[in-house]
Amino acid sequence: MAGNGLPSLGRVKLTDLIASEGIPSDTYKLSVSTLSQSLAQYSAAIIQLPPTDGALLRCCLESARPYFNQKPPYPSSDMIHIDDSREWCKTSGYTADPQLWQESYDYRPGLTSTEPNNDIELPPSGLTDIFMLLGKAARDILDAISFYLNLRSCAFTEILDNVPLRNREISSSVLSVGCHARPSFQGAQHHNLTTQEDGQLVMFTDHEHQVDKSLVSIIKSDKAGLHIRDFNGRWVLVDGDLGPQEAIMYPGLALYHATAGYVSPALHRTDINSLHGGMYGRCSVSYKLMPKSMTSLNCSEMRAAGHGVEAQFQIPVSVDDFMQRSHSLDQLFNRNSFPSFSFPTAQEGSIKPLMKRKKNSTRCKPLPPSKRLRLEAQRVLKERVQDIADKKGIKLRFCSLKECESHIHTLDSPCGNIRLEIGWPAGVPFVHPHDLPNKAKIGFLETYEPGWTANHDMELTLIETGQSSQHADG
Ligand SMILES: [Zn+2]
Repeated sequence: MAGNGLPSLGRVKLTDLIASEGIPSDTYKLSVSTLSQSLAQYSAAIIQLPPTDGALLRCCLESARPYFNQKPPYPSSDMIHIDDSREWCKTSGYTADPQLWQESYDYRPGLTSTEPNNDIELPPSGLTDIFMLLGKAARDILDAISFYLNLRSCAFTEILDNVPLRNREISSSVLSVGCHARPSFQGAQHHNLTTQEDGQLVMFTDHEHQVDKSLVSIIKSDKAGLHIRDFNGRWVLVDGDLGPQEAIMYPGLALYHATAGYVSPALHRTDINSLHGGMYGRCSVSYKLMPKSMTSLNCSEMRAAGHGVEAQFQIPVSVDDFMQRSHSLDQLFNRNSFPSFSFPTAQEGSIKPLMKRKKNSTRCKPLPPSKRLRLEAQRVLKERVQDIADKKGIKLRFCSLKECESHIHTLDSPCGNIRLEIGWPAGVPFVHPHDLPNKAKIGFLETYEPGWTANHDMELTLIETGQSSQHADG
């Protein structure tokens, strides 16, 4: 999907996206086109729900605040749930993730709630109805995407839950009512800081950005703050200007796989800095349309519609494997590198680093040149080199530096073919680029990102004089 210029996120009426028999109407075609352009550019779109649906969502959000607010400040250990993907379609009820400073109440039809019954509490209201309406909406959106991709109608039926569920079936799709950064929830004290080798504290970048494993996700919050990365790599606030009936939809990883990479998954994060001092945190209702267990993601529909399917998508992936696997975001989003945030260690214990994050990230201490060089080399290996190798179906197997110093002078060497095929720079040993001497690292970076040196204000003299040892700081 290639976009050419929506000034802002596309807005589409859900009713206009619903397919009907016969020749597609102009309204339908226009709406599908707006949706697909918005997805191509922003990896998200605004969906306008019918008035009654919007009211139901707002009701649910209203009831979410008191629901979370009466929860204890510390979640008991059995409530702590940190992305246990083995249990991906077996959860229901209240869980808390202290690392993300997030709590949620999951509603999954077919499962009885795991909520202990010792205190009398009401879950947020309207879940059954909202599950129905957002489930239907997500399927309509998925069909609209199929139309755009020229797939036959209901192309994804095989991997979706039955409607309605059959006897004893448990829904794969889930409706979650969530609360981010509730002030009375002490989860953020156990924030996800880790110590890097040089003693600096850094935020886990994996937790900075998230990707849903869904086909399609729909979310409505009571406050703005959802950022999604656009195709230029900029973070765009997507829910800053939502009407009462409007919600955000974005695609997830399962759709990316099921469409052979044609629909990019949204990389998202929630800004909670602005919530400081708020009474309830940020509540949201989200629906994730998931592929069902015991099926597989394959691109047969894409192939049938005449789309090219790259090697990495050709082997069907079992949905259960897919849900349990951790996916490397770096490889997925190889267009731009992720910013990584770092802090000096000297921070008073009382300050919540999660709150401080934004301010520090813009003015973090610059890394020493040799270290930046190494990180850049690692990044380019992950992005460009791995990408080339994947596309050509080459399994990268690097030599040791010593051995390869002689390989580069002989025509017939173990790494000769690989070097040639992926365009490894001449004269540079074929090793993990971070193991290269600094000068050769620059040669490597220049090969895969021409102009790299000019674009990075590296103190080259410093690199050459101060860090002349071969393995620098690797
Ligand atoms: Zn070699």
